[in-house]
Amino acid sequence: MLIVGGGPAGLFLAARLAAQGVRTLVCEEHQTVGDPVHCTGVLSADSFPQFNLPTDATLNTLTTARFVSPGGIAVEYSTPTPLAIVIDRPVFDRALAFRAVAAGAEVRSGTRVATIDIGPSGVRAIAGRDMIEARLAVLACGASYAFQRRFGLGLPRTYLHSAQRELPVTRTASLEMHFGQDAAPSGFAWSVPVSRPDGPHVRVGVMTSSDAVGFYRRMVDRVADRWGVRGGDLPPRQKILPLGAIERTYGDRLLAVGDAAGLVKPTTGGGIHYSILSASLAADVAVDALRRDRLDREALSVYERRWRTELGGEFQAQHALRDAVTRLSDRGIDSFFELARTDGIMPIVRATARFNEHRPLIRALFKHPPSRRLLLRSLVGV
Ligand SMILES: Cc1cc2nc3c(=O)[nH]c(=O)nc-3n(C[C@H](O)[C@H](O)[C@H](O)COP(=O)(O)OP(=O)(O)OC[C@H]3O[C@@H](n4cnc5c(N)ncnc54)[C@H](O)[C@@H]3O)c2cc1C
Repeated sequence: MLIVGGGPAGLFLAARLAAQGVRTLVCEEHQTVGDPVHCTGVLSADSFPQFNLPTDATLNTLTTARFVSPGGIAVEYSTPTPLAIVIDRPVFDRALAFRAVAAGAEVRSGTRVATIDIGPSGVRAIAGRDMIEARLAVLACGASYAFQRRFGLGLPRTYLHSAQRELPVTRTASLEMHFGQDAAPSGFAWSVPVSRPDGPHVRVGVMTSSDAVGFYRRMVDRVADRWGVRGGDLPPRQKILPLGAIERTYGDRLLAVGDAAGLVKPTTGGGIHYSILSASLAADVAVDALRRDRLDREALSVYERRWRTELGGEFQAQHALRDAVTRLSDRGIDSFFELARTDGIMPIVRATARFNEHRPLIRALFKHPPSRRLLLRSLVGV
């Protein structure tokens, strides 16, 4: 079994497969698993027990989020227990790699898979300088879609641009998310507190339809004084952010998981949880398919049916909210924040908000008459 890409999806999958006796090779193009980092590393507290994830990478927890509108209206949301965990992504990825190797998988770093050919009797790939033969290939290569194009799997429904960097600070504050045309068109800008042994830091980032670096710099300026940011001039890391599944996540002797399948929350761009969920489903399907020697696309289509059963409704609801919110003008976003302050949205949020399941909240918002009016008005463009 060949896994292309050693991120959370590929490494989690490798550990699951190797533990069930499948000979598994992960090829990761970078020299060191986990580097370079592009991710903010905010993961729901629930994901850890759900998938028995390594806790070695935990830096701090988040219990309060502050949302800021274009006109400066701020709404705060707090939970009594930690809503999310901030992780050190390189440490997290390396802990997953360690588990994969301990389970019997081989992880080859510095090994880029350049080509994949799939025939009736197997998969042949060129990885680094070697020719690899496998019965099944899994694309876990993150947001790069050359193989998906080549095998007719389609592309994610939409993309945004992102820029992010961790910077040392002298003071810390709660997680902030800023919205509007001046903050991040079609997305949002964020600052996330990070506690390290050598002192507090902030991860500043943006996801936006254009000029990610420009909006990143504006976000640094917005928080610089309050947080005491140092090194704000340093360049951020840029990356394309896929939002929404590719058309088909399976083919003959082929599966796609995580970002490679576009399985990223269309609302927030968060993808670690869905990457691991999809890897877990793919592991079950792959083990069964290998045992039965049924590696044709029909047999592997059960993988897509399973993840759609778990996530299909979520994607539909999150796309609906994204479509409506993206069309809101800055005044519309301000009105929404005004509603949140005055008209009963926060009790709905408290009753329905879940880190990995946004559908209950989205449904409740579309049922709440004033917010429904705003969202529907934005959808029909009046
Ligand atoms: C700015 C930003 C902030 C984010 N913040 C969060 C967050 O706070 N929380 C969250 O849940 N998600 C976040 N995400 C999303 C999250 O990073 C991804 O969803 C997650 O990393 C997906 O894991 P993956 O294993 O599918 O892909 P990746 O982590 O991208 O791993 C894929 C690996 O495959 C390698 N690869 C690619 N092509 C090849 C090849 N041909 N041969 C060999 N190796 C290859 C890549 O180098 C990479 O190491 C963020 C994303 C961005 C861009």
